[in-house]
Amino acid sequence: MIRLEDIHRYFQVGEQSVHALDDIDLTIAHGEYLSVMGPSGSGKSTLLNVIALLDQPSSGHYFLNDRDITQYSDDELAKVRRENIGFVFQFFHLIPRLTAAENVEMPMMLAGIDRKERQQRIETALKQVGLSDRAGHRPDQLSGGQLQRVAIARAMIMNPGILLADEPTGNLDSKSGAEIIDLLERLNEQGVTLVVITHDPAIGERAKRKIRIVDGKIEAET
Ligand code: ATP
Ligand code: MG
Repeated sequence: MIRLEDIHRYFQVGEQSVHALDDIDLTIAHGEYLSVMGPSGSGKSTLLNVIALLDQPSSGHYFLNDRDITQYSDDELAKVRRENIGFVFQFFHLIPRLTAAENVEMPMMLAGIDRKERQQRIETALKQVGLSDRAGHRPDQLSGGQLQRVAIARAMIMNPGILLADEPTGNLDSKSGAEIIDLLERLNEQGVTLVVITHDPAIGERAKRKIRIVDGKIEAET
């Protein structure tokens, strides 16, 4: 379970201060499926980055499973992130020189998992996302939908309990986008907590719980 309490995030750019998150209180239970909508610039990505422990709030508290991790060091936060959180992005963020299999392998290399186990897990993961026949392809040899499926396989390879997706279909045609959402929903049905940012109301509506952010505030929840 994730609990954000009184979270603010200010960005300082020269003389100007942007109040990107304004007093956010949000609890996300284990296994939930939550969508985040709202206008461009409203703070959605900032919120997801804070949840992902990729960005630290200016003030407020972050609880993971009732433990206040707000004051953890960068190294400690990185460890918590590696063990708990997978993240997928609109622009995939795969490493261009590596094959699909090698991209999926990367988090396991960082975690020091041995080669045999890595190979087994890669095989299972690529199969789960329907890409067994694309293991040796580099990103420039894959379609957008395939790139996002590789990114999802990579995000899930360490079995995180939480999967965060920032506009995962924003760069895809509607058919590939629907397939990606189906895949994310399947993971959620298997117990993974799922948070999806989207501009697309048809996608946002599919989540069991929906929040709308305006000017850095949670304006409505349905
Ligand atoms: P979009 O739908 O366009 O992706 P968003 O809701 O994800 O928008 P954010 O990226 O969270 O919006 O940005 C929220 C506000 O914070 C914006 O006004 C943006 O200009 C500002 N902002 C975001 N990141 C930074 C940063 N690193 N430095 C300065 N300002 C930032
Ligand atoms: Mg954004």
